[in-house]
Amino acid sequence: MLRKPISFLLTALISAGAFHISQAASSKKTFTQIREEFTQATLFRFGESFSKARALPVKPKITQRHPASEWQVEEQSRSIERVDGFADAEREGAIERGMRFVYRTARSPANFADYGSDYVWWFAAISNTVRDERLRQMARDMAIACARRWLLTHRALPKDADADTIIDFVSGLDAIESLGLRDDQLKEEIRRAALRFTARDFLSFDPKGEPPPADVPDECKYDGANDNPRGAKFCHVCKRRLAMRTRYDVWYDALVTTHMGDHYGITLGAHYADVLRWLPALAPYRAKGRGTDVEFIDAVYSITHLVYTLNDFWTYRLDTQLLPQEHEFLKASLPKALAARDADMIGEIMDSLKSFGLDDSDPLINKGTLFLLAHQNRDGSWGDVHNNDVYERYHATETAINGLCEYTLRDERLSFPEVEPMLKRWARESTSLRN
Ligand SMILES: [Zn+2]
Repeated sequence: MLRKPISFLLTALISAGAFHISQAASSKKTFTQIREEFTQATLFRFGESFSKARALPVKPKITQRHPASEWQVEEQSRSIERVDGFADAEREGAIERGMRFVYRTARSPANFADYGSDYVWWFAAISNTVRDERLRQMARDMAIACARRWLLTHRALPKDADADTIIDFVSGLDAIESLGLRDDQLKEEIRRAALRFTARDFLSFDPKGEPPPADVPDECKYDGANDNPRGAKFCHVCKRRLAMRTRYDVWYDALVTTHMGDHYGITLGAHYADVLRWLPALAPYRAKGRGTDVEFIDAVYSITHLVYTLNDFWTYRLDTQLLPQEHEFLKASLPKALAARDADMIGEIMDSLKSFGLDDSDPLINKGTLFLLAHQNRDGSWGDVHNNDVYERYHATETAINGLCEYTLRDERLSFPEVEPMLKRWARESTSLRN
């Protein structure tokens, strides 16, 4: 029964985007292997079709509230908190349940229309970096199923594509390249379209001319308007007062966007190094903040995303001596995240510290692992089961999984080795300041 849909799927995929097996991809797959993976992918069935082709930026800010669906459960059941150790099988089981939860949220057409590229990206990243072979394969099947689905609505760049739409295409296609598939024609189309936009369009500021600013309005909490201009104090839709994004938030958003653009080979307003050079403007990080303080939270996420973008998301081991302040800050922040019982932040700090070579033999990491294992919800998720924001629900689950995973870290290196002298200089300066 599976035979029939496979050839259909492959034909549809290939004709849709003229995708072919990448010669440049790290894992060279034969066509038969790819076909085999699509066979696997059909095991994760979808029953929906897609009418919407909406694209959102890579890190969506809009809070979508969809009606309760099959991925939500009402009850929240937690196991008893333990103080002893854990078995590897227990951890793998928790990761698998979490992955299945994220995948269930992706099956909802509304969720997938909003966050499709994000789903493709996350499953692909896990499949390329996690040590456990079974989890890698499971993530790969899910990534390919999501990629196939995403491609159905991303065959060509819309004529009126704005900067956020371009970011969304780059995000999805960069992830799909990491799975061994590519579409050079579409890439060229995107490259040309990207030239029409400035750094401010893509990043909210121009890192070549100014530090991360404090006057970028957050999306309006009343109506979701996210197109209020820099410096605006009142929403142009509802006229109510706007909150401003922190400098940290603006900065790491730009860091992620430029990392993705440079990684894919299409410049999104500026280069990664242009954004990275403002890191010292953010120091000293707000280690004194409380676990629920916005500045503190954004400072933590800035540094975790610094780590992710420097090591291509769990790909390379990072040298602690290149980032002494940041390493210390993350270590100091984990107890605060634990005190705030914030699974999302705990997960992000844990996988960042693991990038520096820490593992469960470290008491801090061990504590985080035990916390996450003891606080997984019955539906496989982490975080508040009553939160209606699907992005926050699946993101907290993804980061908790990332915190629990063990990675096949390759030797110490940086995603873009040309930034190393800059990091070395800052490390020297921060060390001499402290001494
Ligand atoms: Zn408004």
